[in-house]
Amino acid sequence: MEIPLSPLDFARRARRLYGNREAVVDLGQRFTYEVFSDRCDRWSAVLQSLGIRQGDRIACIALNTHSQLESFYAVPQLGAVLVPLNYRLTPQDFAYLIQHSGSRLVCAHSDYLDALDSIRADIPDVEHFVSFEGARPGWLDYEHLIARTPPTFKRPEIGENDLLTINYTSGTTSRPKGVMITHRNAYMNVVGTLLHFPMTSADRYLWTLPMFHANGWTFVWTVTAVGGSHVCLRKVDPRTAFAVINDESVSGLCAAPTVLISLANAPEELRRSARRGVRVLTAGAAPAAATIQRVEDELGWEVTHIYGMTETSPFISVCESRPQHNALPPQQRATIKARQGVELITSGELRVIDSNGCEVPRDGETMGEIVARGNIVMSGYFRDPEATAHALRGGWMHTGDVAVVHPDGYIEIRDRLKDVIISGGENISSLEVESILVTHPAVQEAAVVGMPHEKWGEAPHAFVVLKDGARVTEKELRDFARRSMAHFKVPAVFTILEELPKTATGKIQKYVLRSGRAAIARQ
Ligand code: ADP
Repeated sequence: MEIPLSPLDFARRARRLYGNREAVVDLGQRFTYEVFSDRCDRWSAVLQSLGIRQGDRIACIALNTHSQLESFYAVPQLGAVLVPLNYRLTPQDFAYLIQHSGSRLVCAHSDYLDALDSIRADIPDVEHFVSFEGARPGWLDYEHLIARTPPTFKRPEIGENDLLTINYTSGTTSRPKGVMITHRNAYMNVVGTLLHFPMTSADRYLWTLPMFHANGWTFVWTVTAVGGSHVCLRKVDPRTAFAVINDESVSGLCAAPTVLISLANAPEELRRSARRGVRVLTAGAAPAAATIQRVEDELGWEVTHIYGMTETSPFISVCESRPQHNALPPQQRATIKARQGVELITSGELRVIDSNGCEVPRDGETMGEIVARGNIVMSGYFRDPEATAHALRGGWMHTGDVAVVHPDGYIEIRDRLKDVIISGGENISSLEVESILVTHPAVQEAAVVGMPHEKWGEAPHAFVVLKDGARVTEKELRDFARRSMAHFKVPAVFTILEELPKTATGKIQKYVLRSGRAAIARQ
């Protein structure tokens, strides 16, 4: 038999086997799998009654809440495609992504209704606006619709290669790209995750990672697959996170290294009373060995390090623990855990190749680009065949990440070919920030690079050259940036240079900027 692989099947199973168990907890609201599934079906029925059909896109701008989670089931089971957007973006970014995805319906939490109302003229193709929390003129009320609509709708045939979600990611170009994830992609990532990070129905998973981020690294379905409980968290600050971890008996979570750092550096009294034994999956940026060690030693948690990208659903490698690792002293063990590791059982083949396409030797020194091929690789970038062909050239997903391979076959990321800055787990396109900075009337040229940052791991640092005779202060540039881009993209430092270091062919030498050797302008 051949039944299409789809994460929706996990929900079917969970409802049957774990109907009475807690599916989701969100600010005191608790739904069993039976109630949760019924709500998903009602939401599907609502969408169908609004005219949403197979293949239609639906954009969602929401914090980690039960309604956001419900959308990860209700939309795909109609054969429609969920487009979860990063809520930290600006209204102009929302407009671009909603238009680019061709979304017919937008749903949002109360924090984002004003932003969406301000761009209505720019998103003429959106037919319906749904407010997740409460009524408002011009918005349909989610809870009201769900309450009055019976859970019956027509289920279409869904193929495993049909689109499940479109996840926008900052690529190396200034415009974000829509990563098309299929039902099959997500299914494979869920299964692989559970093989390397096993969970059961007793697990209680805390939503520290935003659900919009590569579908919460597919945990929106992974937790359901085992009948575990989704514990929602709208905002991650250490005090709230530790309180919820203790009160809800949380057993696992996913977090970018920056979140781990903030938890590991929380006030002593919070750390001392923190629940022990929590299993943490970290990815999104390279965690320092010291961070891993602190989390393991001081909190008594167990860290699993994974690497991936939105384009690969997202997991490509896991730092699989071997018996010999456990025998090592803590510091050495943490150093090994900080490596990105080996391919997952289900992720397919991973190679590190040189510029001729040959695998680099396992010497822990020779660097090459990580490429991957397997069932977790996206079907392509939405409405961007050129970028798709480039990323998937030669039948391999080119990650733009540079690594060495150690003698034991474990990879370790050392650099990045792509012009992306990863700050606190958020991707920032340096090109995008540059293209905004040069719209300032005093700025002639701008170059943005990632610099090490204590809190965010890496943060954008802007180097600008002013127009002849122009004058501007750092503060004016910062204020301008804050008005013009999402706040997480605003450079942490601005430096005004006489000129940008360039090659003979005019290419900006970003490595010179990173080294701090560029000549600073005297104003
Ligand atoms: P995600 O952050 O969910 O992994 P993104 O598509 O936002 O996915 O970012 C992917 C990029 O993040 C990778 O190409 C890589 O540069 C970086 N990255 C992800 N995980 C790691 C990791 N464990 N170590 C180092 N870099 C990582």
